[in-house]
Amino acid sequence: MSSSPDEDPPAPTEPERWRDLDMLLSRPGNLVDANFAPSPGLRDMLGSLVEVLVVGAGGLGCELLKDLALSGFKNLHVIDMDTIDVSNLNRQFLFRVQDVGKSKAEVAAKRVMERVSGVNIVPHFCRIEDKEIEFYSDFSIIVLGLDSIEARSYINSVACGFLEYDSDDKPIPETIKFMVDGGTEGFKGHARVIIPGTTPCFECNIWLFPPQVKFPLCTLAETPRTAAHCIEYAHLIKWNEVHPGKPFDADDAEHMQWIYSEALKRAELFGISGVTYSFTQGVVKNIIPAIASTNAIVSAACALEALKLMSGCSKTVSNYLTYNGIVGTHINVSEFVRDKDCLVCGPGTLIKLDASTTLSEFIKMLEEHPKLLMSRASVTHEGDNLYMQAPEVLEQMTRQNLGVPMFELLKGATRATVHVTGMAENNGKKKSSLRKLRVAFNGVEEASKMDESS
Ligand SMILES: [Zn+2]
Repeated sequence: MSSSPDEDPPAPTEPERWRDLDMLLSRPGNLVDANFAPSPGLRDMLGSLVEVLVVGAGGLGCELLKDLALSGFKNLHVIDMDTIDVSNLNRQFLFRVQDVGKSKAEVAAKRVMERVSGVNIVPHFCRIEDKEIEFYSDFSIIVLGLDSIEARSYINSVACGFLEYDSDDKPIPETIKFMVDGGTEGFKGHARVIIPGTTPCFECNIWLFPPQVKFPLCTLAETPRTAAHCIEYAHLIKWNEVHPGKPFDADDAEHMQWIYSEALKRAELFGISGVTYSFTQGVVKNIIPAIASTNAIVSAACALEALKLMSGCSKTVSNYLTYNGIVGTHINVSEFVRDKDCLVCGPGTLIKLDASTTLSEFIKMLEEHPKLLMSRASVTHEGDNLYMQAPEVLEQMTRQNLGVPMFELLKGATRATVHVTGMAENNGKKKSSLRKLRVAFNGVEEASKMDESS
């Protein structure tokens, strides 16, 4: 790779760059959304009014930032905790050799801003969990370019947490946080549109993402059948036998070489072929081969869905597009349905309290509630921290609320929506979860009416 920013061809001039987009946004059509208002100024409105958050600045994230910037979005933010590795350079095309070690979010933002004039991209070099929930409330749409189920699940619960329902259990439009989720794995990919309360959220059909395959240890130890079994034997069993107490470091070439030669010995013993150094790296580091074209295809679909959602210039995919390039090329769209009992995008589990129930009693109820089983809960109401388990300074500040009745903390409202975060069981694993709960008080109707009239 010898390209550098200096050698890039000049960017097209305005308004030539926007000719096709303007055509799409300024003309009516048969396939447009019912609310579409074509106008020559629509692109400017899109640029000035819509704030987009891109989650992830890796293979898919680089493509997404470029595609969204070239689709008329001018206010973008990008969040990613990773730094650039030399192995990223073959497909994460915004990065150069001299960027190795720097923040992906910061470099990606800078590169796209250099190339597309008028675009502002704010980078956030941190974990998604490090941001306050309120940070996510500013965006009209969140586009996900992630490779982790946990991170998707977290963003999904945050975005769905903003959703409010009216008294008929219909989603209130202003509280809907749109999401477009992209994902790729080798030659396969998907792009899905999530409209919380209308289309299924990530949690409604989490079964689409089966848990990662792990080999049973007995297979590794006794009956290896594949090259991967031999590698995992060397990695998970042999390393600890030979190097007790010494942690294995996947980025240490000597360690990797040791695993490779041990795996090779074992493969020879059992007459198994296919153990190579690069395959060893792939298995140990759990590397899924990344294909730049798959990222480009999935990102293009995601950016187009974002444009359609925000402008109404055409109907969006309903609601899950899959791309498969393994044998030929197949694109398919499936329409999944919402799980009406979903704990994340539904109206929220209803919890009935007495006017005297204290916050600490409420937290105890969450632990025992059969649908929630949430331990170590932190509780917020409309952005106010009622009780925080961590960090220590917030715990100290909110500790005195534990003995106060919830009715008082919620300022005498007979019904309220609260958000709780804590450890809960999800897809068979105990992990950090965010839940929206509806709290109602038994027999305090009268008191609240008096409050309103006073
Ligand atoms: Zn859901």
